[in-house]
Amino acid sequence: MNAPIAIIGTGLAGLSAAQALHAAGLPVELFDKSRGSGGRMASKRSDAGSLDLGAQYFTARDRRFVEVVQQWQARGWVAEWDPQLYQYNQNGLQPSPDEQLRWVGAPRMSSISRALLGALPVHFGCRITEVFRGEQHWGLQDAEGNSHGPYSSVIVATPAPQATALLAAAPKLASAAASVIMEPTWAVALGFETALQTPVQGCFVQDSAIDWLARNRSKPGRDGALDTWVLHASSSWSRQHLDLPKEAVIEQLHGAFAELIGCAVPAPAFSLAHRWLYARPASAHEWGALADADLGLYACGDWCLSGRVEGAWLSGQEVARRLLEHRQ
Ligand code: FAD
Ligand code: NAD
Repeated sequence: MNAPIAIIGTGLAGLSAAQALHAAGLPVELFDKSRGSGGRMASKRSDAGSLDLGAQYFTARDRRFVEVVQQWQARGWVAEWDPQLYQYNQNGLQPSPDEQLRWVGAPRMSSISRALLGALPVHFGCRITEVFRGEQHWGLQDAEGNSHGPYSSVIVATPAPQATALLAAAPKLASAAASVIMEPTWAVALGFETALQTPVQGCFVQDSAIDWLARNRSKPGRDGALDTWVLHASSSWSRQHLDLPKEAVIEQLHGAFAELIGCAVPAPAFSLAHRWLYARPASAHEWGALADADLGLYACGDWCLSGRVEGAWLSGQEVARRLLEHRQ
């Protein structure tokens, strides 16, 4: 029996693995606890239009990823974003242009994951709580108490802290995942009725509660009547204010934004806050992916490499490569 391969997580790493395995003729079945795909690269639909609350843009440095991004561009899934970049530090706000090519999903970040998922079989709103080994195959248990399977192999493509328990059948993999510390990020979106009087479209920030801010409408294809900004708090501020109520997070980051942006900042007509508990690995690794190929249990994700969109995609490719190599 040609049992499918279960992939837990439809972020870029899980989708990258799914694509590679599907292209090699192997059946896959995906699971995600969320209502849609994309994970930390997802976009949130809101009263202020579609907002990229997680990944803001991505760069492509590895030759393999550069080629893939060019294909995505040709299909209209991504577009170049060339913002008026600034930096802010103790010397104040200054233009900080550079030559780096930056990409965004078009017309929203989630366009990429939606296109990659295509018609692959997926269970959304399905949080997997256990990965168990039967006599010959793998099975999954979800939070509602339902069992899924049988599967020939399982790929865990969640952030490391969520992967640890799912990898319990392979203790070495579980302990590698458990060793990865992932830092939180508070994200806030603010929408203003009147456009702010500033040329800033993106800004790398130091010496503030904020470490990044972007003007939504400067990205290609973004609509919305309001002038909407996405602010990301630094890891340390987010860690120190992990349990602050959302209203207080909005108020504090609005204050920090008003202090640094160098123009009048009125009360926003729209605001929201989102807490990413496992936003980024505290340090990079060079694992590529984790595998117990004899057992048929694997893990991938940005935390196996660089903690960036590119790292997530490369890790998904690597896990698929290892699985296919073992089957030859
Ligand atoms: P994820 O995208 O986290 O996907 C994991 C998926 O697993 C999720 O969809 C989740 O719902 C699902 N899942 C988890 N547990 C379970 C379970 N038990 N059962 C079922 N499903 C489960 N990168 C850049 O390159 N540039 C940036 O500008 C950038 N900015 C960022 C800003 C923020 C605020 C954040 C949070 C991240 C940012 N990143 C950025 C990082 C980038 O988003 C990630 O590296 C990348 O998206 C990770 O992909 P992934 O597939 O490894 O994990
Ligand atoms: P990148 O090359 O644009 O940025 C890398 C880093 O270089 C920036 O963080 C910044 O410190 C610096 N930098 C780059 N261009 C600059 C400029 N013009 N002026 C001043 N400083 C500049 O992109 P990348 O290497 O693909 O990194 C991805 C980005 O995603 C990083 O900024 C990273 O912090 C961010 N990220 C954020 C989270 C989160 O949870 N908030 C998680 C993962 C990644």
